[in-house]
Amino acid sequence: MTQIYNFSAGPAVLPKEVLQQAAADMLDWHGSGMSVMEMSHRGPEFISIYEAAVRDLRLLLNVPANYKILFLQGGGLGENAIVPMNLVGRVSASATTPAAIDFVHTGSWSGKSVKEAARYANVNVAASGEAGRFTSVPPQSEWKLTPGAAYLHLCTNETIDGVEYNFVPELGDDTPIVADMSSHILSRVIDVSKYGVIFGGAQKNIGPAGLTLVIVRDDLLGHALPICPSAFDWSIVAAHDSMYNTPPTYGIYIAGLVFAHVLRQGGVAAMEQRNIAKAELLYAALDADDFYQNRVEKDCRSRMNVPFYLRDETLNDKFLAGAKARGLLQLKGHKSVGGMRASIYNAMLIEGVQALVDYLNEFAGRK
Ligand code: PMP
Repeated sequence: MTQIYNFSAGPAVLPKEVLQQAAADMLDWHGSGMSVMEMSHRGPEFISIYEAAVRDLRLLLNVPANYKILFLQGGGLGENAIVPMNLVGRVSASATTPAAIDFVHTGSWSGKSVKEAARYANVNVAASGEAGRFTSVPPQSEWKLTPGAAYLHLCTNETIDGVEYNFVPELGDDTPIVADMSSHILSRVIDVSKYGVIFGGAQKNIGPAGLTLVIVRDDLLGHALPICPSAFDWSIVAAHDSMYNTPPTYGIYIAGLVFAHVLRQGGVAAMEQRNIAKAELLYAALDADDFYQNRVEKDCRSRMNVPFYLRDETLNDKFLAGAKARGLLQLKGHKSVGGMRASIYNAMLIEGVQALVDYLNEFAGRK
């Protein structure tokens, strides 16, 4: 059988060992006689799964004690509303001076965040990469931030545009930074203490769709607007250890298996080294001549999501059919930008990237 490599942007490839473990546990978790899917979220079995997941994630990201780890539902787009509903109330707003939120617009996902937040506050696009067709992160020196903003929102890895931050801004005041890390969390070492909130949908580097991760600093809890559904009020969710309502239990279980797997692999620092090697291999093949193009500026090219175009786009279908025949799946670019995209998350092995590179070279007729 052809070895399959899945380059989907998400839901995405998971470590094989995790899927094998889940298969082995499917009918009877640890002799409990139950599948994890059948367990009460309040029973001792599931509580132990939840506690291990939180503990391992705290270890992996070195999450300081004054941050809560929350497991919610709603996805990345849900958080686009949940974040403002929880944080806008931090700053005093009046009819004449409504609260402001600053955004750096670096691509599709931060663009969606701006639109959604505009329903809850004044939004200020402090900088935008739109004029350059989202091929770079505007340098911080050009950002026009609002004094007293409720927070600054960044999407630190733009999954569609393939743009990733290589720096954490220093704001010089106490404005919290909110980062949508949906598509690169656990792929590189981060300093959680530089952020007020980190959030992400699980379906790339963490586990199945349906689970949303929020890491929030304690002082940012307790400001939810009255319109915020209580199941999405972070202070209520935190007070109930993510069990105010039924959490996505199976997603938490798989995430826990992924966290344990990443720990066994040497943690996030080890994943980062592998991700650098994978990304260098792939970008080198794309840059070898002008048969393929990645248009993102080199210093902010994503290590996770690599969009590229064929110079002759009439060959797109032939390229994708040939890739599929070789077991290289889900390489079609997002419909909004066309072209191709290879997502090379933590669980994509370097062998998969090598197989893609071999195919890129072959298709381009390179010797
Ligand atoms: N933010 C980013 C960076 C994403 O990549 C995605 C999904 N691809 C989202 C937000 C939206 O997430 P969801 O589909 O879980 O709502």
